[in-house]
Amino acid sequence: MKYDVYIGLEVHLQLSTKTKAFCSCGTVFGEAPNSQTCPVCLGLPGALPVLNKEVLTSAIKVALALDCSIAERMKFDRKNYYYPDLPKNFQISQYDKPLSYDGHLDITIGGKEKRIGVKRVHIEEDAGKLFHKADYSLVDYNRTGTPLLEIVSEPDMSSPEEAYAYLATLKSVLKYLDVSDCNMEEGSLRCDANISLNRKGSGKLGTKTELKNMNSFKWVRSALEYEINRQSEILDDGGKITQETRLWNADKAVTISMRTKEEAHDYRYFPEPDLVPFSVSRELVDEVKRAIPELPKERMARFVSQYAIPAYDASVLTQEKKAADFFEEAVRIHSNPKGISNWIMGTLNAILNEKRLDIDRTKLLPANLALMVKMIDDGAISAKIGKEMLLEMVDTGESPDVLVEKKGLRQISDAGALEGIIDKIIKENERSVSDYKSGKKNALAHLVGQIMKDTKGRANPKTVNEILLKKLEG
Ligand SMILES: [Zn+2]
Repeated sequence: MKYDVYIGLEVHLQLSTKTKAFCSCGTVFGEAPNSQTCPVCLGLPGALPVLNKEVLTSAIKVALALDCSIAERMKFDRKNYYYPDLPKNFQISQYDKPLSYDGHLDITIGGKEKRIGVKRVHIEEDAGKLFHKADYSLVDYNRTGTPLLEIVSEPDMSSPEEAYAYLATLKSVLKYLDVSDCNMEEGSLRCDANISLNRKGSGKLGTKTELKNMNSFKWVRSALEYEINRQSEILDDGGKITQETRLWNADKAVTISMRTKEEAHDYRYFPEPDLVPFSVSRELVDEVKRAIPELPKERMARFVSQYAIPAYDASVLTQEKKAADFFEEAVRIHSNPKGISNWIMGTLNAILNEKRLDIDRTKLLPANLALMVKMIDDGAISAKIGKEMLLEMVDTGESPDVLVEKKGLRQISDAGALEGIIDKIIKENERSVSDYKSGKKNALAHLVGQIMKDTKGRANPKTVNEILLKKLEG
């Protein structure tokens, strides 16, 4: 490619506070339309907003987790525009004195770490929702005034893959902080992207377009891929990029022009007169800092050193807090970290993906997974039986020792018991035996397979191999 690519992301995060940003209305998703409203969030004359303290502390938490500096003095502004789901005709946001600035988030891309700058994290309020019917529209103000954080990155990403990694890493951090459900389908996590191209090595951003309406990380990646192609073709032909807002149309997999870009002065930002500028106390910042849990990056490093598992395992296990908690609890009960990690990342993840379940929504207890791995390690059951049992354990929450007894799945390691079965198989498979003796070593696998089939997978493979070889060679 002849161009350098610059991508910046704006993430809007809906905070899961019980009440709205500036009033005491509830924020439950899916309640009856307009049932969670009051004069403040409806913008009725004379109503005065009051900042929800939980919004402030959640915002500080996110800002600190992204290594942002907290502003000594902050203020709110009115961002003025008309929209039918915005009853006040302005949105309370932050303009020149936001909550925080100058942070960063480290992403891993192609095995290498890259630092992406975070320009600012600020507080604002959400608008309502419109429902367009055939010949009329309905408006629901339940979401009006719901607290949002806007997390603005620097244009430091240079490919759609980096943008995807940034979003995934950011979501992981936000979920650890437990300030939002991060549910994209319900709109708790939304993303806009800025993208520009410029001649390679110019060191300057080109004219950017803004992409909206991307409801999944995959869409963000596809929209950016499309936009890179579109812009580079225009530049190849000697054309100019128009600064504009474009929408992603997922059905047609194209971006389409929505409007030419508005500038900040179009919004006529001015200080919100009903909320005075204020200072965030050092004590509050320190208090919030102490409440920040161990974050995925630190936890990953700890997993590598404490449990001696590969960095790859540690990164997969720590991406979701509940999976990491599950792993640690299982390891506390049976100290085979690599064994337990293999089961979580392999068979268990495959089952969860198939059932579209999160690890904490199944009946499987960490203690039961630990016990199952221990039984395999002790040779009481085979790994194959383990695989079959795990599915049942996920569904029923049954403990592995009960399952093994109930179904007679205990591994046969007793040489005496196996010898009889092996003799029988040898007798029934003369052809394989003579093949083996004439040098076709892979005939052995067929015989082992027959023995496993006969015992329904319960034979200890190691013991079977030993006895079988002795009989064939002897
Ligand atoms: Zn309200």
